[in-house]
Amino acid sequence: MRCTYNLMSTQLKDLQFQLVGGHLCLDFANTLDNRGSDSEVNLITSYEHLLHFLQQAGAFTSDDVGQLRSSAEAHPVTAQVAMREAIILRELLFHIFSAIANQKRPSHHALQELNLFLNEAGGHRVVSREGGGFTWKWSDIGKDPKAALWPLAWRAAELLASDELALVRECASPSCCWLFLDKSKSHSRRWCDMKVCGNRFKVRRFYERARERSET
Ligand SMILES: [Zn+2]
Repeated sequence: MRCTYNLMSTQLKDLQFQLVGGHLCLDFANTLDNRGSDSEVNLITSYEHLLHFLQQAGAFTSDDVGQLRSSAEAHPVTAQVAMREAIILRELLFHIFSAIANQKRPSHHALQELNLFLNEAGGHRVVSREGGGFTWKWSDIGKDPKAALWPLAWRAAELLASDELALVRECASPSCCWLFLDKSKSHSRRWCDMKVCGNRFKVRRFYERARERSET
C-alpha cells in the first residue's frame, strides 16, 4: 500500500499527502489510493482532511483555511454536504482526466457536471488590488463551507483548456491509477512516483525474468 500514514492512528497535524501529480486537480483525484483494488483507501474522510489537503496542495492560504474551518463549525450540515460533493467532484475529475490520459473522450455528462461546480465557483472569482497591481481572489470564503470546492473546479477547467492537458498521464502500474502531469524533458514519465510504483514494477520484472530463465 502506498500511503505512508494510517488515517485512524495518525494525528491530524501529521497528515501528509503525497503530492506527486504536479497539479491540484490530479493530486485531488489521487486521494483515493489503490483505486479499484481490494485495498482501496479513501485518504479524505472528513471536511478537516479536505482542508488539510487543500492547504498542503496550495489551493488556499492558512488564513483562507481558517475561514473555511470557522464556516464549517458554524454550518456543520452544509459542511457535510460539501464533503459529499467533494467526493463526487473527485470522482468526476478522475473520470475526466483518466479518460484524457488514456486518449479517450470524457463523457458529455461529466463535463456538464463539472460545469455545474464551475458555475458555483465562478460567481465568487473576483479581481482584487494587491501591491501595485491586481490579482485573482475568492470572495466570501468564510460564508460557505462549499467554498472548499471552488479552486478544485476552477483549476480543473483551466487545465482542460490549457496546453498542459496533453501532459496528463495515468501511472503505468495497474494497481495504482494515480494521475500526474508529465513535465519530463522527453515526456516519457510512466510512474506517478519512481520510488514507489517504478521500483515495484522493476522488482516484479526482476522476478518474472528470473522465473522465465528457470523455465528455459
Ligand atoms: Zn503509481
